[in-house]
Order: sequence, then structure tokens, then C-alpha cells
Amino acid sequence: MTTPTLHTGTGWHGGPPGFTGPGLESLDQLRAMVLAFPQFAERVLDERRIPDGVIRDTLRAETLLRLGKFHDAATAAMRAVQAAAGEVPAEPARLLPAATILTDCTVLTGAADAVKSCTDLQLLARSYGDFQRMVIAGALRGVAVYQQHSCQQARQLLDELHTLHTRVCGPDALATALGMARDTIDTCCETRHLDRQPPAQPPPFTAGGLVLHDPTPHGFADRILWLPGIHDCAPAPSLSRSCG
Ligand SMILES: [Zn+2]
Repeated sequence: MTTPTLHTGTGWHGGPPGFTGPGLESLDQLRAMVLAFPQFAERVLDERRIPDGVIRDTLRAETLLRLGKFHDAATAAMRAVQAAAGEVPAEPARLLPAATILTDCTVLTGAADAVKSCTDLQLLARSYGDFQRMVIAGALRGVAVYQQHSCQQARQLLDELHTLHTRVCGPDALATALGMARDTIDTCCETRHLDRQPPAQPPPFTAGGLVLHDPTPHGFADRILWLPGIHDCAPAPSLSRSCG
């Protein structure tokens, strides 16, 4: 039996025994279910109707992110990573989505090792020649650097990444998301005297996971707004209070 991969588009046909209900016959339909009906998706995935543990836990991690259960999402993503990494040979199309979600969980929770996790993901993606996920990992690293070290370093990182990606791939969805993240840092630096305003919508998905391959335009910008940043930029005159 061929091991299913996560990016075939047509996905995993046939479905396992007992896999019932309309709209649950392919990986694309599972993706749509996680997007539209995450509570239902969580129940379905919990019921272990999905025999492939890597796919099940990767989808479950994204579902839990969608529901705002970041720590549970990290647990599911870690299981997926460990299972995918234990396969011989490890398949990047299975390992990288899970690793990307796990890294995003560290960013969304403000984990102390978030920057390192992003760097590790960049190296992993590079080892498989996956340029798109290298850039996504770099963008997540920019978010983590903003939260934990320096708005200036984060802005420079995102700006360089935006320039590099646009030169290689043109003005695609990822370039748009990178530019918006950089511009959001600029806005935060200019308005940091104001009380921090959380994003209107929590960042629900990790681009480069199983559900979404490309980031939404606000994907990284929303993550910039998710937690307060560290501002080492020059404060505006007469402004003394700092915030995210
Ligand atoms: Zn700043």
C-alpha cells in the first residue's frame, strides 16, 4: 500500500472502513471540513476514522489551531512530527507540514524556543529543497524575533525575505503576506504609545500545513499583532509608554 502524502491535491481516495458521512471521502474534503466546520472536524478526527496517524494528527493540529486550542494543537503536531520523522524514508510531504504547524504553535504561544524552532524548520525545509516552506519558516521567525528580541531586527528580516521571495517567485500570495507583516511592524512602531490592540481575528492556520499551502494576506501580520513586541526602535518624541 502506498503511503498517502499530504499534497497530492486529490489526496487519499476510498476512505477507511467506517469512514462515513457526506463530504468525507478525500483529503480535499477534509481540508474543507476543517475550514468550515472545525468542531465537527475535531470530533471526526478524534474518532480515529482516519487510519493514517500522520495525516490525522496534522489535520487535528490545524483544527485545534482553528479552535484556539494552541497547546493541544502543539501536542497533536508533535505526534505527527514524531510519526513522520520515524518513517523510513521520511517523506518531506508528510514531515514538513506537521513541522510547520508545530513551529507555528511555538510562535502563537510565545514559547521561549520559538526563534530556534523557526530556525530548525528553515534548516529542515532547506534540507528537502522546499523553498516555499523555507520562506514561511523565515516569516514565522520574523514574528518570533519581533515578540522576543527586536522590532528592528524583525522588520529587517521580513523586508529582506520579501525582497528575496519577490525576486524569485514574483508578487504572489506569500510575497503579499510578507509585505503586510513588515508594514504591520512599521505601524506598531509608529503607534506603540497606544494600548496594544489585538488582531480582529485570531491567526487560525499555518500556511504550509495541510489545510492551507499559501498564507492568507493577513496571516503573518495577524501573528505580529497576536502578542506584544519588543521595541528597540527610536521612540517618538514625548512618548514614554510602550506597548505591543
Ligand atoms: Zn518598534
